[in-house]
Amino acid sequence: MDKRIHIAVVAGVGYSHLVPILQFSKLLVHLHPYFHVTCFIPTLGSPPTASKTILQTLPSNINCTFLPPVDPKDLSLPQGSALALQLQLTVNHSLQSIHQALKSLTLTTRFVALVVDSFATEALDLAKEFNMLSYVYFPSGVTALSSYLNFLKLDKETSCEYRDLPDAIQIPGCVPIHGRDLVDQAQDRSSQSYKFLLRRVERFRLFDGVIVNSFLEIEKGPIEAMTEEGSENPPLYAVGPIIQMQTKYGDDANRLLECLSWLNKQQPCSVLYVSFGSGGTLSQEQIYELALGLELSDHKFLWVVRSPSSAANTAYLSPQNEVDPLKFLPSGFSERTKEKGLVIPSWAPQIQILSHSSVGGFLTHCGWNSTLESVVHGVPLITWPLFAEQRTNAVFLSEGLKVGLRPRLNKNGIAEKDQIARLIKCLMEGEEGGEMRNRVKELKEAANSALKEDGSSTKTLSQLALKWRNLV
Ligand code: UDP
Repeated sequence: MDKRIHIAVVAGVGYSHLVPILQFSKLLVHLHPYFHVTCFIPTLGSPPTASKTILQTLPSNINCTFLPPVDPKDLSLPQGSALALQLQLTVNHSLQSIHQALKSLTLTTRFVALVVDSFATEALDLAKEFNMLSYVYFPSGVTALSSYLNFLKLDKETSCEYRDLPDAIQIPGCVPIHGRDLVDQAQDRSSQSYKFLLRRVERFRLFDGVIVNSFLEIEKGPIEAMTEEGSENPPLYAVGPIIQMQTKYGDDANRLLECLSWLNKQQPCSVLYVSFGSGGTLSQEQIYELALGLELSDHKFLWVVRSPSSAANTAYLSPQNEVDPLKFLPSGFSERTKEKGLVIPSWAPQIQILSHSSVGGFLTHCGWNSTLESVVHGVPLITWPLFAEQRTNAVFLSEGLKVGLRPRLNKNGIAEKDQIARLIKCLMEGEEGGEMRNRVKELKEAANSALKEDGSSTKTLSQLALKWRNLV
């Protein structure tokens, strides 16, 4: 007889909606080996190489099934449609295949719970049909989650665009957030993306719980506010920080070697690591300003450069074309900075870089995985958000936790070189930077503690596991 307890998982589309839910599944089966996870993976076109690489590292009690890829043409979206819409509609188009797969699997297997990515909330009906408990896996922080849930109220109370509100918005337990720093989809309330966002968030409340990749010690205010007695919020399970222990590097071990041997030659805490996540891109003008700012700062840097684009999330779903990104740097830059910096095209082994003792700062787009990876390795930040909920994360990091410095943009939306250089100096050598470093080191300790056997996140995950186990 099959004694395993079966969980079904629906991942999201793109690196940071697939890898985190798989990391969660890995932690679950590692701590509670009697679980077995079946993960359904929707794809728009072919999945990125970095995602495929992580699939090769899964233990035998996690099975992954790629659903038939959705053809972008079938989404019937105009060119340049919002990323969030593409992510959500891809999952919606895959529901029929998930239904078929579950129907045949449930003939022989009893699934106790369905855990879905935050873009896959339409799968809730499948949980009902197949008699499973239902959970959303939210791959960002509780501050972002609270800001999403708060839209249900804010939408009723506000008549203008949120970005035009004169004051920052007070979300229970969170640092005040200005409307312009809310998630992209809430920047145009007449858009289809905003309507989809509201529907998704309404559905969050119908789930048996939301599992979130955060931990009590880093987001105590928002976690306590969300779980207050009498709140209408779904039960919250903070089980993080769940990050990869090393970036799997496929065939390109040479790049890893190149980064590590360069870092090995640098002084402790002397290097600023610069990266905009799995898909963030800058405009040509901004690449120039950043390059010149790095040069002016006179600090060491390791920069992951992508080819320019006018849309900040261009590379998120479609890998960049073959054009060498280094061609877009200012003329003579590479020669002038060859003693100061290492420039890596497109993709670098981020975890190994952040865990290296030479790295003393991270200029990041504030994607939640990068945020947690920086905290877990005790690295203070320059917070440079680009899209999605990254501006909310930037407010949380720079104004809430005070572990990051955020550049101001000029009227054309550009961070200028002088300011970039000033922030780098402040972070890497100034008193304020030193204080941020101390604060982030405290958070690093707290992150470690949360994951110990008796830590807050381990206990929360055990409660959830027990609940699921008791259903059998
Ligand atoms: N990443 C990496 N190398 C790169 C860029 C990104 O390993 O050159 C990894 C990074 O470690 C993180 C993820 O990609 O785990 C990016 O996730 P995040 O949530 O920070 O941003 P997103 O990709 O969603 O914008």
